[in-house]
Amino acid sequence: MPDTRMLAFTTRAQAFPAKRPAALRARDFREIAERWAPADAGAQAARCSQCGVPFCQVHCPLQNNIPDWLMLAAEGRLREAYEVASATSTMPEICGRVCPQDRLCEGACVIEQSGHGSVTIGAVEKFLVDTAWEEGWVEPLVPVADRSGQSVGIVGAGPAGLTAAELLRREGYRVEVYDRHDRAGGLLTYGIPGFKLEKPVVMRRIARLEAGGICFHLGCEVGRDIPLAALRARHDAVLLATGVYRARAVEVPGADRPGVVNALDYLIAANRKGFGDAVPAFDDGRLDARGRRVVVVGGGDTAMDCVRTAIRQGAAAVTCLYRRDRANMPGSAREVLHAEEEGVAFCWLAAPLAFEGEGKAGPVREVRAQRMRLGTADASGRRAPEPEPGGTFTLPADLVIKALGFDPEDLPALFGEPALAVTRWGTIRLVEGFRTSLPGVYAAGDIVRGASLVVWAMREARDAVVQIHHDLLSAARGSLKDAA
Ligand code: FAD
Ligand code: SF4
Ligand code: SF4
Repeated sequence: MPDTRMLAFTTRAQAFPAKRPAALRARDFREIAERWAPADAGAQAARCSQCGVPFCQVHCPLQNNIPDWLMLAAEGRLREAYEVASATSTMPEICGRVCPQDRLCEGACVIEQSGHGSVTIGAVEKFLVDTAWEEGWVEPLVPVADRSGQSVGIVGAGPAGLTAAELLRREGYRVEVYDRHDRAGGLLTYGIPGFKLEKPVVMRRIARLEAGGICFHLGCEVGRDIPLAALRARHDAVLLATGVYRARAVEVPGADRPGVVNALDYLIAANRKGFGDAVPAFDDGRLDARGRRVVVVGGGDTAMDCVRTAIRQGAAAVTCLYRRDRANMPGSAREVLHAEEEGVAFCWLAAPLAFEGEGKAGPVREVRAQRMRLGTADASGRRAPEPEPGGTFTLPADLVIKALGFDPEDLPALFGEPALAVTRWGTIRLVEGFRTSLPGVYAAGDIVRGASLVVWAMREARDAVVQIHHDLLSAARGSLKDAA
């Protein structure tokens, strides 16, 4: 019988689905957690205290109705729980996998704050929606009205673009999505590795959108293969959801030696191999960590994905070099723990001084690094790292992966639209809601916020769709009036 008693947190401990042993999971790209048995998911959901003011919901960017779906899950009413979970989210099973819950819903959970350990909300969300897919409860995408006289072009098929595509198609618009990659999904497909998000989970979402009538133009780079102006002429509205892709440079000598590579090139190659693609730069060894001593520079989630990918490729040794300490790194604490379990070494408070190797331009052989210490707080309130006098050392390395984050590309130049306003960081400047400075053009996701999270891209896309829908309805009413 399902457990219908809530508030079980006083007697039942926090629990996650069991992780596969580190030695096993470090050999493949499958997700690291086992499937939860329904009784275990229900028992965990029943720990929720059904707060009058649910801080979990407040701190979820999608404002998901978490207490309701937890109660339904605890009562074994899984289909209803799934329906509540999917009412506010276009891909809840993906958020359940990749959201840094410790910084969002679970971090704010009241029972976490009272020292009992949060309800493991993300794991329950994943369980519910995976179950829905298996049971055939995920309905096809069917438009609620016929607005096919109007169309929206979406540039970018990442979580922002896919969310907007689904919601606009549901409203009945013709929706066409343009992406420069050969597969849709953006960083869900080619950035985040399979051990965090198995690719069939993404592909079944995309297949559902295609079956719902959304047209994908893949391998089509806007600005190169088709001008933005052509899209603006072809569609009644255009949404820019292009993400941020310009890798931040590591400005030290030797940064362009063979064997020093960008994180996203490395991760895209690894993900493509997972799809079985031929990838020349991997197949000839340049982007393959097998047998090599790998140093990853950076402390964010991208760096964590690189170190854990290198372990799975059979690297001889993997070290993460980060200039702050463990407590001040931007990456998720859970990801660091997973990486350590899998055999990654962390070199905290260290920054690269040079990538050294044979001659001036030969392959990298070692990283010369500077020991750091934390000084006074900078403008953002974080303690700024500063060099520890005399503290230099070297690390052997024949593959160095630069994972210092991403900035936007020069979109006004790429799109040939100098009137597209951008901020001083290069992100798109919104002029009203999600409207850009170009009439009929909207923007959402990382290209507006800067490198952020999947769930924020989805939230912004959802909000942008409300405005696009409103504007298109007004335009349609205007043309009806004109015709009368
Ligand atoms: P993207 O996902 O970047 O999608 C943009 C799409 O636009 C891409 O498909 C791109 O090909 C396309 N595009 C760009 N320019 C053009 C053009 N000119 N013409 C046509 N198409 C174009 N977030 C989490 O929440 N959890 C995680 O675990 C996590 N891990 C991450 C790991 C890595 C390695 C990276 C890099 C990021 C990670 N993130 C994670 C961040 C998250 O992936 C992004 O915040 C999110 O994908 C942003 O969504 P988006 O739709 O704005 O952009
Ligand atoms: Fe938590 Fe993310 Fe799900 Fe919101 S979408 S409930 S933040 S896992
Ligand atoms: Fe339940 Fe925690 Fe949300 Fe309260 S904050 S409703 S205990 S999940």
